[in-house]
Amino acid sequence: MAEDPRDWELETQAVRGGLMRTEHGEISEALFLTQSFAYESAASADARFAGGPGFIYQRFGNPTTEMFEQRLALMEGAEACRATASGMAAVHLALMGLVRAGDHIVAGRALFGSCRWILSEWMPRFGVETTYVDATDIAAWKNAVRPNTKAFLVESPANPLLEVTAIGAVAEIAHAAGAKLVVDNVFATPVFQKPLALGADVVVYSATKHIDGQGRVLGGAILGAAELLTSAYKDIHRHTGPALSPFNAWVLLKGLETLELRVRRQTETAAKLADAIASHGKVMRTIYPGRADHPQAALIANQMSGGGNVIAFDLGGREAAWRFLDTLQIVDISNNLGDAKSMATHPCTTTHRSMPEAERLEIGLTEGWIRMSVGLEGPGDLTRDVSRALDAA
Ligand SMILES: *Cc1c(COP(=O)(O)O)cnc(C)c1O
Repeated sequence: MAEDPRDWELETQAVRGGLMRTEHGEISEALFLTQSFAYESAASADARFAGGPGFIYQRFGNPTTEMFEQRLALMEGAEACRATASGMAAVHLALMGLVRAGDHIVAGRALFGSCRWILSEWMPRFGVETTYVDATDIAAWKNAVRPNTKAFLVESPANPLLEVTAIGAVAEIAHAAGAKLVVDNVFATPVFQKPLALGADVVVYSATKHIDGQGRVLGGAILGAAELLTSAYKDIHRHTGPALSPFNAWVLLKGLETLELRVRRQTETAAKLADAIASHGKVMRTIYPGRADHPQAALIANQMSGGGNVIAFDLGGREAAWRFLDTLQIVDISNNLGDAKSMATHPCTTTHRSMPEAERLEIGLTEGWIRMSVGLEGPGDLTRDVSRALDAA
């Protein structure tokens, strides 16, 4: 019987999923830098335009991009995937494909800054309103539903304080309301959380983060049931132009090969580092989804199989936080995450500076918080670097 890649282990899917070889039998996936495709005959052009198999134009699809989409879909356990030029293109498309003028969205209030801009500044221009809720409060999701609610959006774990949302419970509320649940799964990665299996309808990624994981290219993806990806997203993706470049798709395809290895190693190091940070006298509070003292540890045990590589900790004030950053010698001061290189940032003055103070306080983000993305350096070197910077804070 032929092997079904859907039954493969994640590690096998990561290196062999979606592979389409040419007649040369190349081992490494081919990079097709081509905008368009020549047809054998007028009739074959007609057949492709009628929806038959084969490629037409890079904005619609490309063999390298399709290999990336198929590999990621297998790893996510999704029927279908559409790649986009960035994570934000994926989030924008994921929402735009579900709503029209007069509709309503419910979103967790701790969201990536650009996602908030789309909901608060962009969508209202087209008559779509958003209600923000405390994503950890199930009753709040239920109470926010209106007759015209069409989409729920949540990040879990959320940036920057790693709040976790009960995806299954929120999916039930969305479905009872006739809405779709979109989950931004960047922090957990497909290695540690499968939102579709928990009940979500759509998963979005910034592939810029762990999927590349080596600081090179932007990319994104939308995943879900084949029917939904066709009905809600196929036309908007083709005609508004957020296609992923085949070059970036190739880089990300190679990134997927080592995603599981990298994320597991980063997570092992993050767990050690989180313990060292939590036990340091200068640290008021540490939040790490892999620790038993995470406020939602029981929920995490239910829906995630690992804590991930991001740690948040509170040094009590801006001065101490900045001294910590300025003392680091190995870890970079940078706002990215999921990279091979460890990075730390002060969210209040970088990623979350445009968030009004009242809203920042609502999510508990005060001036002392540092968010750290743990990379692939040696755990001993990182512990020494971080401990020295904590001493200085
Ligand atoms: C980075 C990020 C995005 C945006 O992705 P880009 O690739 O930078 O466009 C969206 N959501 C989360 C949680 C992110 O970390």
